[in-house]
Amino acid sequence: MPESLTPARTDLPVPELSVVVPMYNERTNVEPFVGAVSAVLGQAGITYELVLVDDGSSDGTWPAIVELTRARPELRGISLSRNFGHQGALLAGLNHARGRAVITMDGDLQHPPEALPELVAAWRAGYKVVNTRRLDSEDTSFFKRFTSRTFYWIFSRLTGVTMEAGTSDFRLLDRDAVEALIRLGDADPFIRGLVSWLGFSTLTIPYQARRRHSGVAKFTLKKMLRLSTGAMLSFSAFPLRLGIGIGFVTSALAFVELCYIFYTYLNGHVVPGWASVMTVMSLMFGVLFVLLGMIGTYLAKVYEILKKRPRFVVGNRAGYGDDAPRLPEYDR
Ligand code: UDP
Ligand code: MG
Repeated sequence: MPESLTPARTDLPVPELSVVVPMYNERTNVEPFVGAVSAVLGQAGITYELVLVDDGSSDGTWPAIVELTRARPELRGISLSRNFGHQGALLAGLNHARGRAVITMDGDLQHPPEALPELVAAWRAGYKVVNTRRLDSEDTSFFKRFTSRTFYWIFSRLTGVTMEAGTSDFRLLDRDAVEALIRLGDADPFIRGLVSWLGFSTLTIPYQARRRHSGVAKFTLKKMLRLSTGAMLSFSAFPLRLGIGIGFVTSALAFVELCYIFYTYLNGHVVPGWASVMTVMSLMFGVLFVLLGMIGTYLAKVYEILKKRPRFVVGNRAGYGDDAPRLPEYDR
């Protein structure tokens, strides 16, 4: 691992648990979130640190985090140099987390802090990965439910990596799983898929999702689409193979069409001109462009990977004491 990966170069004691929380324009949620989680973990008698990752917010989330770290020694703040997206922010947090177990959760209180002791209990019982599954409530919009179910259904069938609907990035990972995940170094990480791919002894705990404490959801349709296509491309070459299949089928159809034309010609009918030729032509061009598009998409991904750009860049830090590593910091 490159040296820049070791924010643990600090004399702070290693906690039993790290809670990693990506925050993008969540200023009004920082304090309620920290309060709720601290109350639950304090009562459960677990030593912990909260790693709050500001994902390039523009609403004053970072000053709010810095302010809180002054008063609470168990808080760590990391500010990314820009908005790297939910998965990048999670990865940055996982890189900084020092606990023997790490929980990742959303910062808008939709993932109930009351469930944390249950996750920790499962980890203490020996599970290295403790996943959660969102139970649909009336609060969950039809759109969210529908897109989530459809995505996981397609994803599981295409990739052979099974994931249930309602899986989110609310989970506990043992230190072993965290190290393995970081080392995978996926250029376009889809953490849910990677954790499932890694294996380890896993338990799934259901929970009832809550309403967002305040603010609005940042997962726009565009961000959701980007995440899901990225996930498919990372885990499956099926679309490429699908193209080959379509190509074969349409070629077979074109061959049948050709036989038919030949047959009518031999029987002395007038050769049906335009229509059939144009049909075959457009069909073939259609297939060709579909295939080209698929190859192009994968090629773009290969290009991304070759560039080996870091998946996040840390711009600032708080709560690490005076011996914090120098900045800027990259993940590779
Ligand atoms: N988030 C982030 N970067 C982004 C988008 C979202 O760090 O680019 C964080 C956000 O602050 C929240 C979590 O990811 O803590 C989940 O986002 P959100 O609540 O908007 O999504 P949803 O609840 O609809 O899944
Ligand atoms: Mg949310």
